[in-house]
Amino acid sequence: MQRLTSTRAERKETSRRQAFGRRAAIAGGFCLCCTPAARLWAAESADGLRCTEVAPGLLVTRGADEEATANNADAIANQAFIIGENAVAVIDPGGSRAHGAALRAAIRARTERPVRYVIITHVHPDHCFGAGAFLEDKPVFLGHARLIPALQARGAFYQRGLIRILGKDATGPIVLPTETVDKNLTLDLGNRPLSLHAHDPAHTDNDLSVIDTRTNTLLAGDLLFVRRMPTLDGSLKGWLAELAKLKQISFARVVPGHGPQAVPWPEAAADLERYLDILLTETRAAVRQNIGIDAAVDTVAQSEHGKWILFDAYHGRNVTEAYKELEWE
Ligand SMILES: [Zn+2]
Repeated sequence: MQRLTSTRAERKETSRRQAFGRRAAIAGGFCLCCTPAARLWAAESADGLRCTEVAPGLLVTRGADEEATANNADAIANQAFIIGENAVAVIDPGGSRAHGAALRAAIRARTERPVRYVIITHVHPDHCFGAGAFLEDKPVFLGHARLIPALQARGAFYQRGLIRILGKDATGPIVLPTETVDKNLTLDLGNRPLSLHAHDPAHTDNDLSVIDTRTNTLLAGDLLFVRRMPTLDGSLKGWLAELAKLKQISFARVVPGHGPQAVPWPEAAADLERYLDILLTETRAAVRQNIGIDAAVDTVAQSEHGKWILFDAYHGRNVTEAYKELEWE
């Protein structure tokens, strides 16, 4: 059973986030085209974005376990950056240009080394729209080979949705990867190799994970959700298969796409794996019993209710996705 009540520290964190969000909302209401205003706002945001050093030179900001709102600037997924001897890599630049600008300011406050790589773990807007804040660094934008068609298909839709919430300037542009990963790729930030792996369809069809070899840390993107309701947008069977493969590997820690900044491995995958297993078993049973898709939404995996933040917002859609995948097997 997940603990869903908040501690004093978490309430303090929420209050800090709301302060950050208010600045973002203000930024969304004014024109940020003029560079001095953008820089001023980004500088102000630096202290609003708390970076936790989960391993030497590997820093993570925790996304809020909320939906995107004007208050949180779509800062709802974790962001990370890794500092090598020559350069910095960003892993998920954030959910909006405003969120990305806050991360960029936090990086600049910590190191002068150039941001050479911006790695986007998948197509979902809370992970990729921060990329616009890093255009001036001229980094290599990296993604899964299928990220480009996914962004071409959905990017404009996601962008319109964010603009309705945040305004155009705070939302930012759609940034396509300038290099893609078909299978594996190794980068070096200067005595700091990063190993990138393009996964088979799982959370989405374009999941990319990163291993910081020196600290033996996996940055899993949304292949791992902790506490927040997982969302299925790729393949249920594929996600379970990718999790099983990752569980064979020993990591010192894992940075999830949503949840605490770093979690133990493989223990932290247990809740996600249980949910996906139940979703698979009960959806498959519903299909075989000729229970219609609408009825299945109301009956499948209801034992998970109360164990996840935002269960009601996403579970029904997950059942629908699972049903479509399992209907013809
Ligand atoms: Zn996602």
